[in-house]
Amino acid sequence: MPLHDQAFRTNDLVPASGIYEILHAQHLLAKQVVLFKSERFPKCSRCDFPVTFLLHHGLRALDYVNHLDVRVPLLELQPIALEDSPQNADAQLREEM
Ligand SMILES: [Zn+2]
Repeated sequence: MPLHDQAFRTNDLVPASGIYEILHAQHLLAKQVVLFKSERFPKCSRCDFPVTFLLHHGLRALDYVNHLDVRVPLLELQPIALEDSPQNADAQLREEM
């Protein structure tokens, strides 16, 4: 089965370096993440529900980065903080005025 048709989950081995789409109904995570071959798919930092990943675009060139010590494996995905959104900042500003 082609990698593009498979769904991967937290703790699975990353089969190919590339950009993966993130599916996680429980929390609002980034839409995409770049992962490196032979690492494990990261978990959500807020819960233990598995995160689902779909290969969006393979990046073979990243395999060469594997041989350098310049990167750190991504272990957890941080939810996007809603309180940092510009709309809320505006509301706060208005309250202060
Ligand atoms: Zn979560």
